[in-house]
Amino acid sequence: MAYRKIREIGDPCLKKKCRPVTEFDERLHALLDDMKETLRMAEGAGLAAPQVGILKRAIVVNLGDNKMLELVNPTIIKTEGSSIEAEGCLSVPGKAGEVERPTKVTVIAYDRFGKRFEYTGEGINARCLCHECDHLDGILYVEKVIRFVDVEE
Ligand code: ZN
Repeated sequence: MAYRKIREIGDPCLKKKCRPVTEFDERLHALLDDMKETLRMAEGAGLAAPQVGILKRAIVVNLGDNKMLELVNPTIIKTEGSSIEAEGCLSVPGKAGEVERPTKVTVIAYDRFGKRFEYTGEGINARCLCHECDHLDGILYVEKVIRFVDVEE
């Protein structure tokens, strides 16, 4: 596993619509392993492949307690509720802003071996899933922000 440099706002990779993963091979596994390592080192809530310069539909979400969820080709199929909370992004350092997101989100995705699964996340996990799926379509939270908030140092 290796740390991959996180692209920051202004990098063209963050504005691109990513391609679906078609090969569930060793390259994908290496990418997911590196993304998890990078997320762990950056102490973030989630990371999308375009944030490390790879324009493929893959994300990792930190579920807490050292648990990380890998989602390949995720599609949000159901959302419930709505809340306005502050969120940040590893690609937008030193900032946070309030964004309206659903409180419960169900996704269909594939694991690293191509096996389809369904996952439902609530609260911060729901927020994170939406934020990371947006990355795959080249959307940063700053485009949806209601207002920026002070970042605690
Ligand atoms: Zn982000």
